[in-house]
Amino acid sequence: MSDPIDRKGLRPKFWEQVPLRNMAPKEWEALCDGCGKCCLNKLEDEDTQEIAFTRVACRLLDGETCRCAQYDIRKQFVPDCVVLTPQNIDEIGYWMPETCAYRLLSEGKALYDWHPLISGTPATVHENGISVKGWTVPEFEVPEDEWEDYIIEEPGT
Ligand code: SF4
Ligand code: SF4
Repeated sequence: MSDPIDRKGLRPKFWEQVPLRNMAPKEWEALCDGCGKCCLNKLEDEDTQEIAFTRVACRLLDGETCRCAQYDIRKQFVPDCVVLTPQNIDEIGYWMPETCAYRLLSEGKALYDWHPLISGTPATVHENGISVKGWTVPEFEVPEDEWEDYIIEEPGT
């Protein structure tokens, strides 16, 4: 399976050696495992700040490739799509999936063996049931007041 993210020519094991703030832009991009879970709509309990993931995906998510269909110009279509940066990850990491590489590193945790940087292939994310491949529903098919019926346990946790 070809990797949609360019992970060539990076410093060996940079994710273990280089703090998030000091990573090169290409290294930062290479941290994404391609799971697609950050593109699921979530519900947040206002009192407890607890996050529940749903099967209802952003309108731009391709449910088979787990990729954004318009990544480069996505803000034109989805203005509130969150762009993770080394500056905001510590603050909004709690809002990301528990297996998200950015969240893991910002919490001082290690990447999982299925991460493409370690396994050498993006296929392991799907093979280990971490990604959203094949089970999402597009948000234009489900009214927002019904999202509660689509709550799931985060896969891979
Ligand atoms: S949850 Fe994190 S690792 Fe997974 S696709 Fe989103 S940004 Fe990438
Ligand atoms: S706009 Fe793209 S990157 Fe942002 S949530 Fe939607 S599918 Fe994901």
